[in-house]
Amino acid sequence: MDQYRVYGNPIQQSKSPIIHQAFAAQTEQKLQYDKELVQLGRFEQVVNAFIRKGGKGANVTAPFKEQACELCHYLTDRAKLSGAVNTLSFIDGEIFGDNTDGVGLVQDLLSHQVALQNKKVLLLGAGGAAKGVVASLLEQNPDLLVIANRTVAKAQLIVDQYPLANIQSSTFEEITSFDFDVIINATSAGLTGATLPIPDQVITASTVCYDMVYGKVLTPFLQRAKQLGAYQVIDGLGMLVGQAAESFFIWRDVKPETDKITKQLRIELS
Ligand code: NDP
Repeated sequence: MDQYRVYGNPIQQSKSPIIHQAFAAQTEQKLQYDKELVQLGRFEQVVNAFIRKGGKGANVTAPFKEQACELCHYLTDRAKLSGAVNTLSFIDGEIFGDNTDGVGLVQDLLSHQVALQNKKVLLLGAGGAAKGVVASLLEQNPDLLVIANRTVAKAQLIVDQYPLANIQSSTFEEITSFDFDVIINATSAGLTGATLPIPDQVITASTVCYDMVYGKVLTPFLQRAKQLGAYQVIDGLGMLVGQAAESFFIWRDVKPETDKITKQLRIELS
């Protein structure tokens, strides 16, 4: 049976095995997908050992996405631009890398009737998750994409990779000079209970607020957005399933349906 893995540290929380086994059952593919905790500093050895055992592919989560990028012999353009890989394919002794986070995010937004064309979009954060979605967001032809980050120099480094007029960096304080239609939180602030230092007035009755994080209850960012009367609040569960579906497609050449497993995971979370 073809073998796949998801690597991370921590990894216990990962829902990828449940999602991929559900995709496999749905599309009648025979495969085994497991999660594996990788000790820091051992990523390369673990991947190479899996390749020697005949592994077909792997997903990669924090903190190994950048290391995964460096391991690859071939990268897709979107992986190259993001400098981070979440999907590895092992073919004839060579490692192919891709990043499916952006596709997962955009598909989830579209499934909530949020189209980005001609919209002003604010991306909060400039870490691996933010880097991974910028190319896909720009492909949707927004009017403007502003990347705001606590360490603004990191946001500017991302912007520098895209020589386009409609992308720029900002501090959190300066984002009030724009009128955003969609705000995407790609920071990990909520995970530690920290409040994002963004001014209240950026969220209005017409703003869609998206948080890449998801959980049993609304994330702190989405709770605040709701209190401020945001038009729509969406968490990252659909993105998680969407990025997995794109990985599955890369490996198995068949696109699984995502609605059912997203609903199942939502029920299990509650
Ligand atoms: P990184 O550690 O690479 O980046 C963290 C980002 O959060 C940085 O921009 C950092 O700013 C910012 N940040 C952290 N704490 C604060 C704070 N207190 N105030 C303001 N900004 C803060 O993480 P990732 O980019 O890999 O992941 C970000 C989040 O996205 C995670 O919570 C992850 O779970 C989620 N995610 C969800 C996915 C999904 O499928 N739903 C897929 C991928 C990620 P600075 O640069 O200044 O330190």
